[in-house]
Amino acid sequence: MTTLTALSTEELEAFTRAMGMPAYRARQIHKWIYQAGCGSFDRMTDLPKDLRARLSAEARVRSLEEVGRQVSEDGTEKFLFRLSDTESVESVLMFDADRTTLCVSSQVGCAMGCRFCVTGALGFRRNLQAHEIVEQVLHARERLRPESDLTNIVFMGMGEPFQNFEEVQTALGRLISPGYVGLSKRKVTVSTCGHVEGIQRLGREGPIVNLAISLNATTDETRSRLMPVNRKWPLKELLRACREFPLKPTRRITFEYVLFAGVNDTLEDARRLVRLLKGIRSKVNLIPFNPHPGSEFSKPGDEQVLAFQQVLVEAGLTAPVRKSKGADIAAACGQLKAAYTARQKGPKPN
Ligand code: SAH
Ligand code: SF4
Repeated sequence: MTTLTALSTEELEAFTRAMGMPAYRARQIHKWIYQAGCGSFDRMTDLPKDLRARLSAEARVRSLEEVGRQVSEDGTEKFLFRLSDTESVESVLMFDADRTTLCVSSQVGCAMGCRFCVTGALGFRRNLQAHEIVEQVLHARERLRPESDLTNIVFMGMGEPFQNFEEVQTALGRLISPGYVGLSKRKVTVSTCGHVEGIQRLGREGPIVNLAISLNATTDETRSRLMPVNRKWPLKELLRACREFPLKPTRRITFEYVLFAGVNDTLEDARRLVRLLKGIRSKVNLIPFNPHPGSEFSKPGDEQVLAFQQVLVEAGLTAPVRKSKGADIAAACGQLKAAYTARQKGPKPN
């Protein structure tokens, strides 16, 4: 069965032509899929009924199936999607006063092996295709509308986006294209563990969306211990790539800094962080580690977090402390998919 989101505009035209439809039908259907965000043919009300029935028999609009949805005490929602091959991924919808952000996954699992991250512990299963990434957005929008709409997308779910460069690039193109999802480039953020080749390639080829770097340490020794990617691309190279990234004049790179008690949370670390970021238009998100069962790390106390923040603020950096949202439904950073996988792997009933 053909999945329409998997087709390019030309392929959709060819598909409708092969079904004997005039060319404008492809344009109508395309609009329904991306602008109206329609997930089924029966809602495409300007198509004749018999045509909708024929389409339903030959194709489906999207491939992701929502198989679970949880709502956190703080309003955060987590979707679990089954993919066509029975793999699954999650997206998380977060609500703030002035924005609604969807955190999307780019891979099933992740190969980067960061020591503190639950997705990393799963290992790598497969890359998502561009349409599987875009569908997470279409699905969330359909859920939100008509009362509200998505304002921001962050690639901070499962996976390292730059390990899946082409598909992520295509998905980004569709998210920001007015003919597709049509979000502003300023509202889309790709987060990377420090994949220097990916940062450089995005800088060269675009689209130039916002960039977030999961920095998490201020020395190569500590960073390599937390994030094996640092052995390939150490801090100096990573920060050089950040300096060279063709940011728009008013934009800044976001540096995510997860605070682990006794590992990277000293005032000396804070001062080093200030020095490292010198000359880069940046903002820092401080994220107290979100503990999970079996993890060797813990989060620092509030006082330590505030003292760390103080050093950055006094040096003129923007450095908000980000509370993990949705912790009670395991929707917080680095926890995606773990609960579901644990259930799948759990003991079978007798
Ligand atoms: N692979 C990409 C994007 C997904 S990870 C990247 O690494 O940037 C999203 C963010 O969650 C990263 O900044 C990571 O440092 C953070 N993270 C992972 N596990 C966490 C945890 N247990 N507590 C807090 N943040 C965590
Ligand atoms: Fe992968 Fe990012 Fe988790 Fe590292 S922090 S294992 S790169 S998802």
